[in-house]
Amino acid sequence: HLGNETIKAELGRASWKLFHTILARYPEKPTAEEREALSSYIYLFSRVYPCGECASHFQKLLKKFPPQTSSRIAASQWGCHVHNQVNSRLGKKIFDCGTIAEKYQCGCADDGDVGMT
Ligand code: FAD
Repeated sequence: HLGNETIKAELGRASWKLFHTILARYPEKPTAEEREALSSYIYLFSRVYPCGECASHFQKLLKKFPPQTSSRIAASQWGCHVHNQVNSRLGKKIFDCGTIAEKYQCGCADDGDVGMT
C-alpha cells in the first residue's frame, strides 16, 4: 500500500514529464494562437492539478513568473526555471536547464527528434 507522499511524488514526476515534453516540442516560431493555447493550458493546469497545496503554490509561481510563450527555447527554459523554484522550495537539487532539449523527447517523427532512446 503506497503512502500519500509516495503517491503525490509519483503524480508530480508524471506531471513534470508531460509538462517539460510539451514545452520541448512547442513550436520554435509559434503563431499567436499557439501562444494563446500554451498560456491557457498552463493556467488551466495550475487550476485543475489534483494536489491542492501544489496547485495553489504553482498559481503563486505563475503570478511571479508568467509563462514565456514566444519560442520553444523561451518556453522550455521558463518551464525549467519554475520547476527549479518548486525544487528549491521542497529542498531538492537545482536542475541544469542546459540539458532539457535532449532529455525531453516525445518519440514522435518530428524535427530534431531522435526518437526512442
Ligand atoms: P521531480 O521534481 O518530480 O522531477 C522529475 C525529474 O525531472 C527529475 O528526476 C529530473 O530528472 C527532472 N527535473 C528536475 N528538475 C527539473 C527542472 N527544473 N527542469 C526539467 N527537468 C527537471 N510536491 C510537494 O510535496 N509539494 C508541492 O507543493 C508540490 N508542488 C508541485 C507543483 C507542480 C506543478 C508539480 C507538477 C508537482 C509538485 N509537487 C509538489 C511534486 C514535486 O515537484 C515532485 O514531482 C515530487 O516530489 C517528486 O520529486 P522527484 O525528486 O522525483 O523529482
